[in-house]
Amino acid sequence: MKFVSTRGDSPATGLSQAMRHGVAPDGGLYLPESLPRLGALDPAVSLAHWSTAMLAPFFEGDVLAAELPDICAEAFDFPTPLVAPDPSRPGLRALELFHGPTGAFKDFGARFLLACFDRIGDPAEPLNVLVATSGDTGGAVGCAAEGRSAVSATILYPRGRVSAFQERQLTCWAEPVRALEVEGDFDDCQRLVKAAFARADLSRAHRLTSANSINIGRLMPQMAYLAAAAARVHSESGVKPGLIIPTGNLGHGFAALYARAMGMPIGPIVLVTNSNRTLADWHRSGDYAARASVATIANAMDVGAPSNFERLIQLDPDQREVDIQMVDDDTIRSRVVEEYRASGYIWCPHSATAAEAYARLSPERRSERPWVACATAHPYKFADIVEPLIGAKIAPPPALEAILSRETRSEAIPATLQGLASALERQTVLT
Ligand SMILES: *Cc1c(COP(=O)(O)O)cnc(C)c1O
Repeated sequence: MKFVSTRGDSPATGLSQAMRHGVAPDGGLYLPESLPRLGALDPAVSLAHWSTAMLAPFFEGDVLAAELPDICAEAFDFPTPLVAPDPSRPGLRALELFHGPTGAFKDFGARFLLACFDRIGDPAEPLNVLVATSGDTGGAVGCAAEGRSAVSATILYPRGRVSAFQERQLTCWAEPVRALEVEGDFDDCQRLVKAAFARADLSRAHRLTSANSINIGRLMPQMAYLAAAAARVHSESGVKPGLIIPTGNLGHGFAALYARAMGMPIGPIVLVTNSNRTLADWHRSGDYAARASVATIANAMDVGAPSNFERLIQLDPDQREVDIQMVDDDTIRSRVVEEYRASGYIWCPHSATAAEAYARLSPERRSERPWVACATAHPYKFADIVEPLIGAKIAPPPALEAILSRETRSEAIPATLQGLASALERQTVLT
């Protein structure tokens, strides 16, 4: 399988190179040259086995092909339960994607990608993953990079835009992981990362590579677990379930669309945003206009210029058919409260947008098929928002509790390419 740029102006390349580059030389994002087609997969196997089978066509002909079973075993070693959060609404399932070491679905992509990089890189000249984060990605990448030898990680996060717990888990990882606190917002962080990759000298000198959801290596595992969950529900019910996906940078959302385009048993897809209205406006008007991001209580979704839109518009119109729902902060809060009162189930602010989108479905759409709402983060990560709403304490799961006892460290940098370049220089001098 070869990978080509969304902008059509870069040579086709193999998977390892596409992952290694992150962004294509022409500034576009990589996609497979043709849609991988699959026969029937067995929904009863483990997620690691499912993913090995589903992702095999992406790896065909690549040096990592023989490693795929091990990569999947390493990346998918925690559960992804499909639960019924409210017994009075059996048609609603929550796909809990937060049982990994940093409590959010970003663990899947980060662990998968870093497992690949560690097999692509060379310990004598390690790759450096440069990642901009609006919250969960950095922690997941830091955790996935800690202790590796052929790959290190540099994490950029926006000052004052992440929760106290998120900040802790961005800054608590040992070598070869580094956290940079940027004086700006998430879009600034993302702009800096893009600018650094665009500078060939910088990028080469520091062997930079990306782990944002623009990297094809993050999208693949997301496609796999969404398809696996849909297939499980499909085999039980005989109906393709609808998927409801909280979305920001459109990584998770695009993965759902692509998995469906590949023939996975996925019905209608609802993408849910917070008050960042770029996608909703596009869907309504047909015109795409990036905006500055707006800060919300679902901050991992605070994106005004979703990078993966560039991939989405590559799909045929029927492949990218979606419903888009927008949920503002007040509605997130009342949804968290209402669900907790009704069933005791606690949704994090991001996942609550999916619960709200389910509540907005017409009774007809709800009775047609089961719906799977993605629960993207553990509510403990947003305890400062959720606990006052529900009037109860949320117990940390063991993995998150372990993070609380770690030491933290970070370095502040201005939101300029020069600021980032100097920080990278300092790292080179240090090591
Ligand atoms: C990243 C994230 C999202 C949004 O995912 P995208 O891939 O950026 O669309 C939603 N919820 C949580 C908890 C996240 O960390």
